[in-house]
Amino acid sequence: MTQKSNLAINPQRLWDQIMETASYGATQKGGIKRLTLSDDDKKVRDWFKKECEALGCTVTVDAVGNMFALKSGRKNSLPPIAMGSHLDTQPTGGKFDGVLGVLGALEALRTMVDLGYETNAPIMIVNWTNEEGSRFAPAMLASGVYAKVFTPDYAYERTDRDGKTFGDELERIGYKGKAAAGSQKFQAMFELHIEQGPILEAESKMVGVVTGVQGMRWYEVTVKGQEAHTGATPMKLRKNALLGASRMIEAIHQVGMRHLPGVASVGLIENRPNSRNVVPGEVFFTVDLRHPEETVLDEMEKEYQQALPQIAGELDLELDEKRIWKSPAVKFAPELIECVRHGAEQAGFTTRDMASGAGHDAAYIARVAPTTMIFVPCLGGLSHNEAESTSFEECAAGSQVLLNAVLEYDRRFAE
Ligand SMILES: [Zn+2]
Repeated sequence: MTQKSNLAINPQRLWDQIMETASYGATQKGGIKRLTLSDDDKKVRDWFKKECEALGCTVTVDAVGNMFALKSGRKNSLPPIAMGSHLDTQPTGGKFDGVLGVLGALEALRTMVDLGYETNAPIMIVNWTNEEGSRFAPAMLASGVYAKVFTPDYAYERTDRDGKTFGDELERIGYKGKAAAGSQKFQAMFELHIEQGPILEAESKMVGVVTGVQGMRWYEVTVKGQEAHTGATPMKLRKNALLGASRMIEAIHQVGMRHLPGVASVGLIENRPNSRNVVPGEVFFTVDLRHPEETVLDEMEKEYQQALPQIAGELDLELDEKRIWKSPAVKFAPELIECVRHGAEQAGFTTRDMASGAGHDAAYIARVAPTTMIFVPCLGGLSHNEAESTSFEECAAGSQVLLNAVLEYDRRFAE
């Protein structure tokens, strides 16, 4: 079999399988509710296992339910090349978030098998458990265990709102595997995913060549002033915590504007006592800063932390500010990024380099293996929503680029 290939995936077959699996947890509004380790999750896992085995794969499940479907290549001493994402969804999730990455990989493998194309390295498809984190927080739990960010016991102890644990539910649906978490090695992983943002659509680009995941830092801020009567307290004598917070929110917005494509947001605010005739005495709010470059994120943090005390001082307010969480920026593997770029060009698609705005399993896997991602557009940038929509053509493009990228990566092992 020749190593130069022009394998074309079957777009209709991919689409039909996306629609078929969407019935596991289908919602009235056309979305999916397939919470991790639920009965519907078991159904889609059983389906996935059966499909992979029909293609000649051996399916192994690890101790936290991650599924690894392995298809042998010509040189099985080589570690496999992996493609993976997740089959769990949000409570009001769409049909494509995660699903496209797993089914697009399945279609890529099915194309190779159908056309009798044998890779040099073995190929692996991975379904990561509990990417969404909506039933058992935190998100990306089992890829995190794989990457040794969390221990298996930490995962088992996570509890949902009904008091059920991750460990018990994993056993209940029959997906607590014997393989140790992290034991299923691969030499590279490609994750196809919908963008979950509006950039590709706005720029009419078909494929996002994802160079990394932006760094994130979260903070909590409390501004203290003094509660006072709104009628009897002259303007000059007020210590208005909400006025201070509003100026801080504007300053935080400007930090983002000065460091594009960075983003700076205040998403939660509590005003106390929140009464129409009381000058607000205390305001609590949260801050979320993100940028693909860690050094720029440092600069954003510095500017933000300088702006707040200055505003507080001007309005005679007290300030309590602290960072509560930090997730470093992730850089994907250059040699894999190039495979995606060439794979997209080979298929004739327009591309754009971009950093992921959201977290993904790939962000943890990048800590232990060369990793990258491929994005395709979603309508209006909408995701985590039952109306989430990625077109027939866009799904097909993603699966094709995934296939091309994996085959290009695999060519390095030809004699
Ligand atoms: Zn996802």
